[in-house]
Amino acid sequence: MNENAAPWRATVLTLYPDMFPGPLGQSLSGDALARGAWSLEARQIREHGLGRHRSVDDTPAGGGAGMVLRCDVLGAAIDAAATADDPRPRLLMSPRGRPLTQARVRALAEGPGAVIVCGRFEGVDERVIRARDLEEVSIGDYVLSGGEIAALVLVDACVRLLPGVMGKHASGVEESFEGGLLEYPHYTRPREWEGRTIPDVLMGGNHAAIARWRAEQSRALTRARRPDLVAPEEP
Ligand code: SAH
Repeated sequence: MNENAAPWRATVLTLYPDMFPGPLGQSLSGDALARGAWSLEARQIREHGLGRHRSVDDTPAGGGAGMVLRCDVLGAAIDAAATADDPRPRLLMSPRGRPLTQARVRALAEGPGAVIVCGRFEGVDERVIRARDLEEVSIGDYVLSGGEIAALVLVDACVRLLPGVMGKHASGVEESFEGGLLEYPHYTRPREWEGRTIPDVLMGGNHAAIARWRAEQSRALTRARRPDLVAPEEP
């Protein structure tokens, strides 16, 4: 995204618009929001609800527990939020989705923004997922009570990568996952704390040695904690 491009734009469809911007209104993302580096619109799905009670859900076809968000209600909410030629990807926060990765976050951050649907109850009528081409995105293998916190997670991860949001920090080129590895350990003053010292190499000023030490630490941490991220050893 260049300097003159339109700001990154998130539109969130939710039954709980008051949850937004929530934590994204604070700190770096909040400052960037206030100066217009990105924008956030939370839209109430219930405005498209049916009848006097603005009903949005109904019992699952085939029986079972809980309620399902209606396809007609959600379809109308999506159509009102984003025209057919809106270039932004349409995402549905869902534990059935492909797990969110830093690579996907980076691709989203480089695009125009996202339209994000937050599920509730047992989930969403399958037909609207297909008809509006929603990409299901999961933030991990556990079940939340609604898509709102997942949407906050996704938007936070994208916004911190937008130009200028992280200030002098190099937008995370050295961060966890960026090189397929976890990040090395950090230290700051005091030099000694409760008998624990900062590794000597970090105090020596030899930048090549420091870079080597950090790379070794990254590889060792990743092998120990996230062997799934490390290419399997050659036989
Ligand atoms: N019955 C569903 C879970 C519904 S949870 C199932 O078993 O798959 C209610 C809503 O919370 C979902 O529609 C989704 O929008 C959101 N949600 C729950 N867990 C999530 C996760 N891990 N990632 C993203 N969204 C999630």
